[in-house]
Amino acid sequence: MSDIIKTIESALDKVADPKYGSDGLNIVISYNKEASLADAKKVQALLDQTDSGPLAGVPLIVKDNIATLDTPTTCGSKILRGYQSPYEATVISKLRAAGAIPVAKANMDEFAMGSSTENSSYGPTKNPLDPTRVPGGSSGGSAAAVAAGIAPIALGSETGGSIRQPAAFCGIVGVKPTYGRVSRYGLVAFASSLDQIGVFANNVKDAAVATYITAGKDPRDATSADVAVPGYSEANDLNGMTIGIPKEYFPESLDSGVRARCNAAIEALKSAGASIKEISLPHSSLAIQTYYIIAPAEASSNLARFDGVRYGVRKSGNGDLTSMYETTRTEGFGDEVLRRIMLGTYVLSHGYYDAYYKKALSVQSLIRQDFSNAFRDGVDAIFTPTTPTTAFKLGAVTDPYEMYLSDVFTATANIAGVPAMSQPIGRVDGMPVGGQIIANHFDEPTMFKVATVLETTLGQDAHR
Ligand code: GLN
Repeated sequence: MSDIIKTIESALDKVADPKYGSDGLNIVISYNKEASLADAKKVQALLDQTDSGPLAGVPLIVKDNIATLDTPTTCGSKILRGYQSPYEATVISKLRAAGAIPVAKANMDEFAMGSSTENSSYGPTKNPLDPTRVPGGSSGGSAAAVAAGIAPIALGSETGGSIRQPAAFCGIVGVKPTYGRVSRYGLVAFASSLDQIGVFANNVKDAAVATYITAGKDPRDATSADVAVPGYSEANDLNGMTIGIPKEYFPESLDSGVRARCNAAIEALKSAGASIKEISLPHSSLAIQTYYIIAPAEASSNLARFDGVRYGVRKSGNGDLTSMYETTRTEGFGDEVLRRIMLGTYVLSHGYYDAYYKKALSVQSLIRQDFSNAFRDGVDAIFTPTTPTTAFKLGAVTDPYEMYLSDVFTATANIAGVPAMSQPIGRVDGMPVGGQIIANHFDEPTMFKVATVLETTLGQDAHR
Protein backbone atom coordinates (compact mmCIF):
# COMPACT_ATOMS: atom_id res chain seq x y z
CA MET A 1 0.00 0.00 0.00
CA SER A 2 1.18 3.48 -0.75
CA ASP A 3 2.67 5.83 1.79
CA ILE A 4 0.14 8.60 1.38
CA ILE A 5 -2.82 6.29 1.83
CA LYS A 6 -1.16 4.82 4.92
CA THR A 7 -0.52 8.30 6.33
CA ILE A 8 -4.12 9.35 5.78
CA GLU A 9 -5.48 6.08 7.16
CA SER A 10 -3.48 6.57 10.31
CA ALA A 11 -4.64 10.21 10.59
CA LEU A 12 -8.23 9.00 10.14
CA ASP A 13 -7.72 6.38 12.88
CA LYS A 14 -6.73 9.23 15.18
CA VAL A 15 -9.63 11.41 14.04
CA ALA A 16 -12.04 8.56 14.86
CA ASP A 17 -10.32 7.71 18.18
CA PRO A 18 -12.83 8.27 21.03
CA LYS A 19 -9.95 10.00 22.87
CA TYR A 20 -10.48 12.98 20.57
CA GLY A 21 -14.27 12.77 20.26
CA SER A 22 -17.02 14.28 22.40
CA ASP A 23 -16.32 12.00 25.38
CA GLY A 24 -12.61 12.78 25.22
CA LEU A 25 -10.72 15.97 24.39
CA ASN A 26 -13.66 16.95 22.12
CA ILE A 27 -11.44 18.18 19.29
CA VAL A 28 -13.12 16.58 16.29
CA ILE A 29 -16.61 17.66 15.18
CA SER A 30 -16.95 15.78 11.89
CA TYR A 31 -15.00 13.80 9.33
CA ASN A 32 -15.63 11.91 6.09
CA LYS A 33 -13.41 8.88 5.82
CA GLU A 34 -14.41 7.96 2.25
CA ALA A 35 -13.82 11.48 0.93
CA SER A 36 -10.41 11.78 2.63
CA LEU A 37 -9.32 8.39 1.32
CA ALA A 38 -10.50 9.26 -2.18
CA ASP A 39 -8.42 12.46 -1.96
CA ALA A 40 -5.44 10.43 -0.77
CA LYS A 41 -5.74 8.09 -3.76
CA LYS A 42 -5.81 11.07 -6.14
CA VAL A 43 -2.73 12.62 -4.56
CA GLN A 44 -0.94 9.26 -4.62
CA ALA A 45 -1.78 8.81 -8.32
CA LEU A 46 -0.38 12.27 -9.07
CA LEU A 47 2.71 11.56 -7.02
CA ASP A 48 3.29 8.30 -8.89
CA GLN A 49 3.39 10.28 -12.17
CA THR A 50 5.02 13.55 -11.25
CA ASP A 51 5.44 15.94 -8.36
CA SER A 52 2.10 16.44 -6.66
CA GLY A 53 2.80 19.48 -4.55
CA PRO A 54 4.77 20.56 -1.49
CA LEU A 55 2.19 19.15 0.95
CA ALA A 56 1.56 15.82 -0.81
CA GLY A 57 -0.33 13.57 1.57
CA VAL A 58 -0.19 15.89 4.60
CA PRO A 59 -3.29 15.51 6.80
CA LEU A 60 -5.05 18.81 7.43
CA ILE A 61 -7.51 19.75 10.20
CA VAL A 62 -9.96 22.57 9.45
CA LYS A 63 -11.76 24.90 11.84
CA ASP A 64 -15.50 24.40 11.46
CA ASN A 65 -16.17 27.94 10.18
CA ILE A 66 -14.25 27.30 6.95
CA ALA A 67 -16.40 25.87 4.14
CA THR A 68 -15.65 22.31 2.99
CA LEU A 69 -17.56 20.11 0.56
CA ASP A 70 -17.24 16.71 2.20
CA THR A 71 -18.19 17.62 5.76
CA PRO A 72 -20.70 20.02 7.33
CA THR A 73 -19.65 23.57 8.29
CA THR A 74 -21.37 24.47 11.57
CA CYS A 75 -19.31 27.22 13.22
CA GLY A 76 -19.79 25.29 16.47
CA SER A 77 -23.38 26.56 16.52
CA LYS A 78 -26.75 24.89 16.93
CA ILE A 79 -28.14 27.18 14.25
CA LEU A 80 -25.93 25.56 11.58
CA ARG A 81 -26.15 21.97 12.84
CA GLY A 82 -25.71 19.72 9.80
CA TYR A 83 -25.33 22.66 7.38
CA GLN A 84 -23.63 21.58 4.17
CA SER A 85 -21.84 24.29 2.19
CA PRO A 86 -22.37 24.18 -1.59
CA TYR A 87 -18.81 25.42 -2.22
CA GLU A 88 -15.40 25.19 -0.59
CA ALA A 89 -13.16 27.94 0.75
CA THR A 90 -10.30 29.17 -1.44
CA VAL A 91 -7.76 28.18 1.24
CA ILE A 92 -9.03 24.59 1.10
CA SER A 93 -8.77 24.48 -2.69
CA LYS A 94 -5.25 25.88 -2.53
CA LEU A 95 -4.06 23.48 0.16
CA ARG A 96 -5.61 20.55 -1.69
CA ALA A 97 -3.88 21.62 -4.88
CA ALA A 98 -0.64 21.50 -2.90
CA GLY A 99 -1.43 17.90 -1.92
CA ALA A 100 -2.84 18.39 1.61
CA ILE A 101 -5.79 16.22 2.58
CA PRO A 102 -8.51 17.51 4.93
CA VAL A 103 -9.23 14.79 7.49
CA ALA A 104 -11.55 16.49 9.98
CA LYS A 105 -13.38 19.65 11.04
CA ALA A 106 -12.40 20.97 14.45
CA ASN A 107 -14.34 22.31 17.40
CA MET A 108 -14.43 26.07 18.04
CA ASP A 109 -16.16 28.78 20.02
CA GLU A 110 -19.52 29.45 18.40
CA PHE A 111 -19.02 31.76 15.38
CA ALA A 112 -15.41 32.28 16.59
CA MET A 113 -16.55 34.28 19.61
CA GLY A 114 -14.49 33.34 22.62
CA SER A 115 -11.02 32.65 23.98
CA SER A 116 -11.36 29.15 25.44
CA THR A 117 -13.48 26.98 23.11
CA GLU A 118 -15.95 26.69 25.98
CA ASN A 119 -18.61 28.57 23.94
CA SER A 120 -19.20 25.68 21.55
CA SER A 121 -22.63 24.08 21.22
CA TYR A 122 -20.68 20.80 21.05
CA GLY A 123 -19.20 21.37 24.51
CA PRO A 124 -15.68 22.50 25.38
CA THR A 125 -12.44 21.23 23.86
CA LYS A 126 -9.77 20.26 26.39
CA ASN A 127 -6.08 21.09 26.26
CA PRO A 128 -4.11 17.96 25.27
CA LEU A 129 -1.22 18.98 27.57
CA ASP A 130 -3.55 19.11 30.58
CA PRO A 131 -7.20 18.15 30.02
CA THR A 132 -8.30 20.15 33.08
CA ARG A 133 -7.32 23.30 31.18
CA VAL A 134 -8.72 25.09 28.12
CA PRO A 135 -6.87 24.97 24.79
CA GLY A 136 -7.60 28.67 24.21
CA GLY A 137 -9.94 29.89 21.54
CA SER A 138 -11.72 30.43 19.41
CA SER A 139 -9.72 28.03 17.20
CA GLY A 140 -9.12 25.70 20.16
CA GLY A 141 -10.01 22.47 18.33
CA SER A 142 -7.51 23.17 15.54
CA ALA A 143 -4.72 24.07 17.97
CA ALA A 144 -5.43 21.03 20.15
CA ALA A 145 -5.44 18.78 17.06
CA VAL A 146 -1.89 19.80 16.16
CA ALA A 147 -0.70 19.66 19.78
CA ALA A 148 -2.22 16.18 20.17
CA GLY A 149 -0.49 14.97 16.99
CA ILE A 150 -3.69 14.27 15.02
CA ALA A 151 -2.31 16.26 12.07
CA PRO A 152 0.80 18.40 11.51
CA ILE A 153 -1.15 21.34 10.06
CA ALA A 154 -4.48 22.93 10.90
CA LEU A 155 -6.42 25.98 9.78
CA GLY A 156 -7.90 28.47 12.21
CA SER A 157 -9.34 31.95 11.94
CA GLU A 158 -8.55 35.17 13.74
CA THR A 159 -10.54 38.25 14.50
CA GLY A 160 -8.79 39.31 17.70
CA GLY A 161 -6.35 36.56 18.64
CA SER A 162 -8.11 33.27 17.94
CA ILE A 163 -5.09 31.59 16.35
CA ARG A 164 -2.24 33.09 18.35
CA GLN A 165 -3.83 32.66 21.79
CA PRO A 166 -4.68 28.93 21.39
CA ALA A 167 -1.26 28.36 19.75
CA ALA A 168 0.32 29.85 22.89
CA PHE A 169 -1.87 27.75 25.23
CA CYS A 170 -1.12 24.51 23.32
CA GLY A 171 2.62 25.08 22.78
CA ILE A 172 2.60 25.27 18.98
CA VAL A 173 3.08 27.88 16.22
CA GLY A 174 0.08 29.96 15.05
CA VAL A 175 0.04 32.62 12.34
CA LYS A 176 -2.29 35.52 11.64
CA PRO A 177 -1.31 36.87 8.22
CA THR A 178 -1.59 40.51 7.13
CA TYR A 179 -5.22 41.52 6.54
CA GLY A 180 -5.80 40.81 2.84
CA ARG A 181 -2.91 38.37 2.47
CA VAL A 182 -5.15 35.30 2.52
CA SER A 183 -8.56 35.00 0.86
CA ARG A 184 -11.56 34.94 3.19
CA TYR A 185 -13.77 33.36 0.54
CA GLY A 186 -15.53 30.49 2.31
CA LEU A 187 -14.77 31.73 5.83
CA VAL A 188 -18.05 32.34 7.63
CA ALA A 189 -17.86 36.06 8.44
CA PHE A 190 -17.62 37.26 12.05
CA ALA A 191 -16.16 40.78 11.71
CA SER A 192 -15.17 41.08 8.07
CA SER A 193 -12.73 43.98 8.46
CA LEU A 194 -10.69 42.04 11.04
CA ASP A 195 -11.11 38.34 10.07
CA GLN A 196 -8.21 36.38 8.60
CA ILE A 197 -7.61 32.66 8.08
CA GLY A 198 -4.29 31.35 9.36
CA VAL A 199 -2.25 28.24 10.01
CA PHE A 200 -1.22 26.15 13.04
CA ALA A 201 1.87 23.94 12.85
CA ASN A 202 4.51 22.32 15.04
CA ASN A 203 7.30 24.56 13.78
CA VAL A 204 7.89 27.89 12.05
CA LYS A 205 8.88 26.45 8.68
CA ASP A 206 5.74 24.31 8.30
CA ALA A 207 3.61 27.28 9.35
CA ALA A 208 5.34 29.60 6.86
CA VAL A 209 5.14 27.15 3.96
CA ALA A 210 1.41 26.55 4.53
CA THR A 211 0.77 30.29 5.00
CA TYR A 212 2.36 31.09 1.65
CA ILE A 213 0.39 28.32 -0.07
CA THR A 214 -2.86 29.86 1.16
CA ALA A 215 -1.81 33.44 0.31
CA GLY A 216 -2.45 35.57 -2.76
CA LYS A 217 -5.07 37.59 -4.61
CA ASP A 218 -8.39 35.80 -5.03
CA PRO A 219 -10.93 37.19 -7.52
CA ARG A 220 -13.64 35.90 -5.16
CA ASP A 221 -12.52 38.12 -2.26
CA ALA A 222 -12.35 41.81 -3.09
CA THR A 223 -10.35 42.49 0.09
CA SER A 224 -7.60 40.02 -0.83
CA ALA A 225 -4.48 41.90 -1.83
CA ASP A 226 -2.58 41.72 -5.08
CA VAL A 227 0.82 41.54 -3.42
CA ALA A 228 3.52 39.09 -4.52
CA VAL A 229 3.76 36.02 -2.30
CA PRO A 230 7.34 35.24 -1.30
CA GLY A 231 8.68 31.76 -0.57
CA TYR A 232 10.04 30.59 2.77
CA SER A 233 13.75 31.13 3.24
CA GLU A 234 16.00 29.73 5.93
CA ALA A 235 17.77 32.20 8.20
CA ASN A 236 20.68 31.83 10.62
CA ASP A 237 21.04 35.15 12.34
CA LEU A 238 19.39 38.51 12.95
CA ASN A 239 22.45 40.66 12.29
CA GLY A 240 21.50 44.24 11.49
CA MET A 241 17.91 43.83 12.63
CA THR A 242 16.12 45.82 15.31
CA ILE A 243 13.44 44.22 17.45
CA GLY A 244 11.08 46.56 19.28
CA ILE A 245 9.90 45.70 22.79
CA PRO A 246 6.75 47.71 23.51
CA LYS A 247 6.60 48.60 27.18
CA GLU A 248 2.79 48.46 27.26
CA TYR A 249 2.98 44.69 26.71
CA PHE A 250 5.03 44.09 29.84
CA PRO A 251 2.82 45.57 32.59
CA GLU A 252 3.66 45.07 36.24
CA SER A 253 0.73 42.67 36.52
CA LEU A 254 2.24 40.31 33.92
CA ASP A 255 2.56 36.75 35.22
CA SER A 256 6.13 36.38 36.50
CA GLY A 257 6.66 33.07 34.73
CA VAL A 258 5.52 34.53 31.40
CA ARG A 259 7.82 37.51 31.96
CA ALA A 260 10.80 35.25 32.67
CA ARG A 261 10.26 33.23 29.47
CA CYS A 262 9.94 36.48 27.48
CA ASN A 263 13.16 37.81 28.95
CA ALA A 264 14.93 34.60 27.96
CA ALA A 265 13.53 34.93 24.43
CA ILE A 266 14.73 38.54 24.23
CA GLU A 267 18.21 37.38 25.30
CA ALA A 268 18.07 34.74 22.55
CA LEU A 269 17.16 37.40 19.96
CA LYS A 270 20.11 39.48 21.15
CA SER A 271 22.51 36.56 21.02
CA ALA A 272 21.38 35.94 17.41
CA GLY A 273 22.57 39.44 16.50
CA ALA A 274 19.44 41.60 16.85
CA SER A 275 19.49 45.00 18.52
CA ILE A 276 16.77 45.38 21.09
CA LYS A 277 14.96 48.71 21.35
CA GLU A 278 12.35 49.67 23.91
CA ILE A 279 9.38 51.24 22.10
CA SER A 280 5.92 52.50 22.95
CA LEU A 281 2.62 51.60 21.31
CA PRO A 282 0.70 54.11 23.43
CA HIS A 283 -2.85 53.31 22.33
CA SER A 284 -2.59 49.57 22.98
CA SER A 285 -4.50 49.89 26.23
CA LEU A 286 -7.58 50.88 24.19
CA ALA A 287 -7.47 47.80 21.98
CA ILE A 288 -9.98 45.61 23.84
CA GLN A 289 -12.55 48.40 24.14
CA THR A 290 -12.12 49.27 20.45
CA TYR A 291 -12.30 45.64 19.40
CA TYR A 292 -15.49 45.04 21.42
CA ILE A 293 -17.23 47.83 19.55
CA ILE A 294 -16.03 47.15 16.00
CA ALA A 295 -16.24 43.33 16.12
CA PRO A 296 -19.78 43.07 17.57
CA ALA A 297 -21.00 45.86 15.24
CA GLU A 298 -19.89 43.88 12.20
CA ALA A 299 -21.03 40.59 13.74
CA SER A 300 -24.54 41.89 14.35
CA SER A 301 -24.81 42.68 10.66
CA ASN A 302 -23.07 39.51 9.39
CA LEU A 303 -25.16 37.23 11.59
CA ALA A 304 -28.44 38.74 10.41
CA ARG A 305 -28.41 36.15 7.60
CA PHE A 306 -29.05 33.32 10.05
CA ASP A 307 -32.80 33.75 10.16
CA GLY A 308 -34.16 30.24 9.71
CA VAL A 309 -34.87 30.89 6.03
CA ARG A 310 -31.58 30.68 4.22
CA TYR A 311 -29.37 28.42 6.31
CA GLY A 312 -29.49 25.56 8.75
CA VAL A 313 -32.01 25.12 11.47
CA ARG A 314 -35.57 26.55 11.52
CA LYS A 315 -37.87 26.74 14.55
CA SER A 316 -41.38 27.74 13.62
CA GLY A 317 -42.40 29.37 16.93
CA ASN A 318 -46.11 30.18 17.02
CA GLY A 319 -46.39 30.08 13.25
CA ASP A 320 -45.99 33.67 12.03
CA LEU A 321 -42.84 34.96 10.32
CA THR A 322 -41.57 37.19 13.13
CA SER A 323 -42.00 34.47 15.66
CA MET A 324 -40.12 32.05 13.36
CA TYR A 325 -37.17 34.49 13.17
CA GLU A 326 -37.22 35.09 16.91
CA THR A 327 -37.49 31.47 17.95
CA THR A 328 -34.87 30.29 15.45
CA ARG A 329 -32.37 32.89 16.58
CA THR A 330 -33.11 32.64 20.30
CA GLU A 331 -32.80 28.87 20.32
CA GLY A 332 -30.12 28.60 17.63
CA PHE A 333 -27.54 31.02 19.05
CA GLY A 334 -25.70 30.58 22.34
CA ASP A 335 -25.41 33.24 25.05
CA GLU A 336 -22.14 34.80 23.92
CA VAL A 337 -23.37 35.20 20.33
CA LEU A 338 -26.60 36.80 21.54
CA ARG A 339 -24.59 39.16 23.77
CA ARG A 340 -22.45 40.26 20.80
CA ILE A 341 -25.50 40.80 18.57
CA MET A 342 -27.10 43.00 21.22
CA LEU A 343 -23.87 44.92 21.81
CA GLY A 344 -23.39 45.36 18.05
CA THR A 345 -26.88 46.60 17.26
CA TYR A 346 -26.64 48.97 20.24
CA VAL A 347 -23.39 50.65 19.13
CA LEU A 348 -24.71 51.00 15.59
CA SER A 349 -28.07 52.41 16.59
CA HIS A 350 -29.10 55.97 15.89
CA GLY A 351 -27.95 58.11 18.80
CA TYR A 352 -25.08 55.80 19.82
CA TYR A 353 -23.35 55.39 16.47
CA ASP A 354 -21.29 58.59 16.86
CA ALA A 355 -20.54 58.00 20.52
CA TYR A 356 -19.37 54.40 20.14
CA TYR A 357 -18.86 53.07 16.63
CA LYS A 358 -17.41 56.23 15.09
CA LYS A 359 -15.21 56.81 18.14
CA ALA A 360 -13.92 53.25 17.92
CA LEU A 361 -12.94 53.78 14.29
CA SER A 362 -10.96 56.87 15.30
CA VAL A 363 -9.14 54.92 17.97
CA GLN A 364 -8.47 52.23 15.37
CA SER A 365 -6.53 54.81 13.31
CA LEU A 366 -4.50 55.76 16.39
CA ILE A 367 -3.58 52.12 17.01
CA ARG A 368 -2.62 51.69 13.33
CA GLN A 369 -0.51 54.86 13.59
CA ASP A 370 1.34 53.47 16.63
CA PHE A 371 2.54 50.52 14.56
CA SER A 372 3.40 52.65 11.51
CA ASN A 373 5.46 54.96 13.72
CA ALA A 374 7.39 52.06 15.22
CA PHE A 375 8.21 50.56 11.81
CA ARG A 376 9.03 54.01 10.38
CA ASP A 377 11.45 54.63 13.24
CA GLY A 378 13.60 51.65 12.33
CA VAL A 379 12.02 48.69 14.08
CA ASP A 380 11.94 45.56 11.85
CA ALA A 381 9.72 43.46 14.07
CA ILE A 382 8.11 43.64 17.49
CA PHE A 383 8.30 41.04 20.26
CA THR A 384 5.70 40.64 23.04
CA PRO A 385 4.15 37.89 25.15
CA THR A 386 1.18 36.39 23.25
CA THR A 387 -1.01 36.14 26.35
CA PRO A 388 -0.84 37.48 29.91
CA THR A 389 -1.02 33.96 31.43
CA THR A 390 -0.71 30.31 30.45
CA ALA A 391 -3.83 28.17 29.77
CA PHE A 392 -6.42 28.56 32.51
CA LYS A 393 -8.63 25.85 34.02
CA LEU A 394 -11.88 24.88 32.31
CA GLY A 395 -14.71 26.84 33.88
CA ALA A 396 -12.34 29.20 35.72
CA VAL A 397 -13.21 32.37 33.78
CA THR A 398 -16.92 33.13 34.05
CA ASP A 399 -16.94 36.92 33.67
CA PRO A 400 -17.18 37.76 29.93
CA TYR A 401 -15.01 40.87 30.33
CA GLU A 402 -12.25 38.87 32.03
CA MET A 403 -12.41 36.42 29.11
CA TYR A 404 -12.13 39.33 26.65
CA LEU A 405 -8.88 40.40 28.35
CA SER A 406 -7.18 37.17 27.14
CA ASP A 407 -6.65 39.08 23.89
CA VAL A 408 -5.03 42.26 25.31
CA PHE A 409 -1.76 41.55 23.54
CA THR A 410 -3.19 40.12 20.32
CA ALA A 411 -6.18 42.28 19.30
CA THR A 412 -3.97 45.26 18.33
CA ALA A 413 -2.52 43.37 15.34
CA ASN A 414 -6.02 42.67 14.01
CA ILE A 415 -7.06 46.27 14.56
CA ALA A 416 -3.96 47.49 12.71
CA GLY A 417 -4.11 44.73 10.06
CA VAL A 418 -0.45 43.77 10.52
CA PRO A 419 0.84 40.17 10.47
CA ALA A 420 1.57 38.51 13.80
CA MET A 421 2.34 35.04 15.08
CA SER A 422 2.87 33.08 18.25
CA GLN A 423 5.55 30.48 18.87
CA PRO A 424 6.51 28.42 21.94
CA ILE A 425 9.21 30.06 24.10
CA GLY A 426 9.25 27.78 27.13
CA ARG A 427 6.99 26.53 29.88
CA VAL A 428 5.78 27.57 33.30
CA ASP A 429 4.64 24.77 35.61
CA GLY A 430 4.49 22.46 32.62
CA MET A 431 2.25 24.74 30.54
CA PRO A 432 3.49 26.46 27.37
CA VAL A 433 4.20 30.18 27.03
CA GLY A 434 3.83 31.90 23.65
CA GLY A 435 6.05 34.66 22.30
CA GLN A 436 4.49 36.97 19.74
CA ILE A 437 6.31 38.40 16.69
CA ILE A 438 4.59 41.28 14.88
CA ALA A 439 5.79 42.77 11.58
CA ASN A 440 4.75 45.52 9.18
CA HIS A 441 1.96 45.06 6.59
CA PHE A 442 2.86 42.27 4.12
CA ASP A 443 6.23 41.78 5.77
CA GLU A 444 5.63 38.12 6.62
CA PRO A 445 9.22 37.37 5.43
CA THR A 446 10.68 39.42 8.31
CA MET A 447 8.22 37.92 10.80
CA PHE A 448 9.13 34.36 9.76
CA LYS A 449 12.83 35.19 9.72
CA VAL A 450 12.77 36.39 13.32
CA ALA A 451 10.62 33.42 14.33
CA THR A 452 12.91 30.92 12.59
CA VAL A 453 16.04 32.25 14.26
CA LEU A 454 14.32 32.48 17.65
CA GLU A 455 13.17 28.88 17.28
CA THR A 456 16.68 27.58 16.51
CA THR A 457 18.33 29.74 19.14
CA LEU A 458 15.97 28.58 21.89
CA GLY A 459 16.15 24.95 20.72
CA GLN A 460 14.69 22.57 23.29
CA ASP A 461 14.28 25.44 25.78
CA ALA A 462 11.20 26.47 23.79
CA HIS A 463 9.48 23.33 25.04
CA ARG A 464 10.58 23.13 28.67
N1 GLN B 1 -11.51 36.24 21.73
C1 GLN B 1 -11.95 37.23 20.79
C2 GLN B 1 -13.45 37.20 20.71
O1 GLN B 1 -14.04 36.53 21.46
C3 GLN B 1 -11.32 36.99 19.46
C4 GLN B 1 -11.97 35.93 18.67
C5 GLN B 1 -11.34 35.69 17.35
O2 GLN B 1 -10.20 36.09 17.08
N2 GLN B 1 -12.10 35.06 16.48
O3 GLN B 1 -14.06 37.86 19.91
